[in-house]
Amino acid sequence: MAAPAHARPVYILRQAGTERPFTSPLLKEHRKGTFVCAADGNPLFSSTTKFESGTGWPSFWRPLKGAVGTSTDSSFGMSRTEVHCSRCGGHLGHVFDDGPPPTGKRYCMNGDALRFQPA
Ligand SMILES: [Zn+2]
Repeated sequence: MAAPAHARPVYILRQAGTERPFTSPLLKEHRKGTFVCAADGNPLFSSTTKFESGTGWPSFWRPLKGAVGTSTDSSFGMSRTEVHCSRCGGHLGHVFDDGPPPTGKRYCMNGDALRFQPA
């Protein structure tokens, strides 16, 4: 049985879940502003670092200073770098090394773990 819509952020943040691609309304969010943690409102990413990755998940090339932490995720037989909110520890997504300049990083985020605050 699918989780009710209101339970999805908790599933993502607390159980390291991954939402289905191309489902996040934040993919089409192109206004100036800040993407914050859905759990505690911690500012995570500026809209100026968002880019179209084509993956179906909101993607950024740099987090705000001190906004996120990382750890190694060895689930599914892959070694990936997991990204979480530095304030509440909520799971946000993963970071990969195939992003655009200037960082070359791709922060692949679950839209359900984020909220957008227009500037
Ligand atoms: Zn948080």
